Amino acid sequence: MDIKQGFVDTVGNTPLIRLNSFSDETGCEILGKAEFLNPGGSVKDRAALYIIQDAEKKGLLKLGGTVVEGTAGNTGIGLTHICNAKGYKCLIIIPETQSQEKMDALRTLGAEVRPVRAVPYKDPNNYVKLSGRLAAEMDNAIWANQFENLANRQAHYETTGPEMWQQTDGKIDAWVSATGTGGTYAGVAMFLKEKNPDIQCLVADPMGSGLYSYAKTGKIETEGSSITEGIGNSRITGNMEGAPIDDAIRISDRECLRVIYQLLRQDGLFMGGSVGINVGAAVALAKEMGPGHTIVTILCDSGSRYQSRLYDPQWLASKGLSVESLDLPTSG
Ligand code: PMP
Repeated sequence: MDIKQGFVDTVGNTPLIRLNSFSDETGCEILGKAEFLNPGGSVKDRAALYIIQDAEKKGLLKLGGTVVEGTAGNTGIGLTHICNAKGYKCLIIIPETQSQEKMDALRTLGAEVRPVRAVPYKDPNNYVKLSGRLAAEMDNAIWANQFENLANRQAHYETTGPEMWQQTDGKIDAWVSATGTGGTYAGVAMFLKEKNPDIQCLVADPMGSGLYSYAKTGKIETEGSSITEGIGNSRITGNMEGAPIDDAIRISDRECLRVIYQLLRQDGLFMGGSVGINVGAAVALAKEMGPGHTIVTILCDSGSRYQSRLYDPQWLASKGLSVESLDLPTSG
């Protein structure tokens, strides 16, 4: 018998997919961990589960209690699924700039959703800080605190990294990933470096995020912006502290878009924006390393969460972008 014991038992153990068009183009094996196949639809299900289980183990979360979190959406969706399955409530503070699809999903699942103005981290009304204050003021509530809570990267250290290692028989030359909280990047990088210190670990960064300059010069510079959601940072989070970083690659919106449309048209994969940054960086690295290398990255979530943005010509035009101008290879 092989029966999953409810929703939480179905998180993780995702397939590792050879991205055929980009692998054939570069002569490298470019492999994407299919995190969009998690039951809540994103890589953040793993962190959400570990954070809730950790709070339960510590006796901080009791039946009927509330999980409060500031999130770009995916962590909130993962948390709400798990809260529903375990008898908790969920209060989600989300910047109002995030996609309507993610807001709608959160409300449908039954989270209490509070959209707030998107202000920088240093502002006391930043969504992350606000979620911490609200949790502290409530009875029988915990703050998931995904940016600083190390249960987040532990999920990837104990599950995502080992799964990749097993799925490739340890034949990995490089690991590349964008960071939001950094939990995915750091947990996998720490695990892989322990297994084989020769594996190169690189941060993929969108424009406007400070980790590229941090990796290159030790200083955080955040000029610019990106059409992607859920990734990029202006600080080193608790989850990123101590993570090995060999180098970083910066990917433009145009390149990100080219990648997700090629994945859609040539590989049959309908992906969100952070995947464009991840796979774009993997392709750039493949070209730099030369043929014959294996590079792993993350397919974080599905394009359906961004239908009204990345896959809407009018929205793209409002950002000065168009699919026609992307020089996509013609599909066979
Ligand atoms: N991609 C998407 C779409 C996300 O929502 C997130 C998390 N906000 C990430 C990537 C980054 O994951 P992590 O928080 O583990 O760095």
